[in-house]
Amino acid sequence: MIYLDNAATTPVRTEALQAAWPFLTNEFGNPSSTHELGGRASNALDGARERVAHWFGARGSEIIFTSGGTESDNLGIIGLALANPRGKHLISAKSEHEAVLAALEFLERIHGFDVTWLDLDEVGSIQGGAAALTAALRTDTTLVTLMVANNEIGTLHPIAELAAATHEVGALFHTDAVQAVGWVDLNVKALGVDVLSISGHKFGAPKGSGALYVRGRTKTEPIIHGGGQEGGLRSGTENVAWAVALATALELLPESTAEARRVAALRDSFILQVMEAAPNALPTGHPTNRLASIASFCFVGVSGESILVQLEARGVICSSGSACAAGSDDPSHVLLAIGVEPEVAQSAVRFSFAHDTTEEELEATVVALSESIASVLR
Ligand code: PLP
Repeated sequence: MIYLDNAATTPVRTEALQAAWPFLTNEFGNPSSTHELGGRASNALDGARERVAHWFGARGSEIIFTSGGTESDNLGIIGLALANPRGKHLISAKSEHEAVLAALEFLERIHGFDVTWLDLDEVGSIQGGAAALTAALRTDTTLVTLMVANNEIGTLHPIAELAAATHEVGALFHTDAVQAVGWVDLNVKALGVDVLSISGHKFGAPKGSGALYVRGRTKTEPIIHGGGQEGGLRSGTENVAWAVALATALELLPESTAEARRVAALRDSFILQVMEAAPNALPTGHPTNRLASIASFCFVGVSGESILVQLEARGVICSSGSACAAGSDDPSHVLLAIGVEPEVAQSAVRFSFAHDTTEEELEATVVALSESIASVLR
C-alpha cells in the first residue's frame, strides 16, 4: 500500500505509544488524586506540558491538552471571543476548516457575533494580504482566526504579518496550525499569535490527542465546565497517556525547515509528473507558498471519487479533500471559496505526504494515476 493521505491522519509512532503505555497500565493514577500514584500521573502530565511548550517556544502554563484539533479550535475561538468582548466582530476566511467555520457560525447564531469574511484569490491566499485584513479590522473586532496552512490545497498564510496587523488595533489572533506541525516553523513568539491549535493524530500521536497554546494572561472562557482541570479551561480528568504520546511524537519530528525542503522537492517533481501524465490535471493551491506535504489537483471532466476508487484498487490511498467532508457529495467548500466551479471541484484529489514518503512511491503513484484516469474515461 502507498499511503498518501497523511493530512487525514498518520500512523501512531511506536515510541509515542511506548511512552504512553505505563500511563495506560501500572501508572494509571488520576493526576488530581493526592496519593502517590496520582502524584506520579500529575508529574508525567506536567512533564509532557513542559515538553510541548518547549517545542513551540512557549511556557508550560500556556499549554492546554485537548481531544484534538476540533476541540482546540472551538476552545480557542469561542473561549476567546466570549472572554474578550472588545465587541462582537470576528474576521476569518471561508477556506478555514469546518471546526473553525462551525465555531464562528455558533458565535453568530447564539451570541450575535458578526463575521467579516476576507476575500481569497484563486490560489487560496488572502486577496490584498495583511492590508486587506487591516482594512477589515474595526474598533469592535475581538478576534481574527486564519489558518497557517490549508488542509486541502496546502496554501500558507503569512501568519506573523497577519497577527501583527491584528495587534495594531488590540484584537486577538488565533491560528489553526493543525496541518503545519512538522512542516513549518511554529515558534509562537516568532509567529506572534495569541492562540494556536494542534492535533496529535496528524503527526504520529493517537487520535483524540491535541493541544491549544494560549498566550499567558489571555482571558479565555472554558467551553467544558467541571472540576477545573487544565487551569480551569478544560475540565475533565486529563488523558495523561495521550499527553505523553503527543509530546513524544512532537519531539520525533525532524527539524521542519530542512525536511520540508526535501519533501517540497519531491512534491514539485510529483506535480510535474502528474501534469505530464494527465493533461486534464489542474494543480490547486499556491504554486510555491504552500505546504511541502500536500499536492492537490482537479482532474477536469473526471469524478474525483471514481479516481480514488481506481487508485485504491491499485494500492494507492489518498482522498478527495478533507476527510471530514469525505462521503458527502458536496464539492469542497475550500475549492468553492477560491472560485473553482462546482463541477470542477467534484474532480478534486489530494495527495498528502509524510516525512518518510519516497520518490519511488510517488513514481508508482503517477503510473497508477494515469491508469486510473484512463480506466474512468473508458
Ligand atoms: N483543522 C484542520 C486544518 C484540519 O485539517 C483538521 C483535521 O483534518 C482539524 C482542524 C480537526 O482536527 P481533529 O481531527 O483532531 O479534530
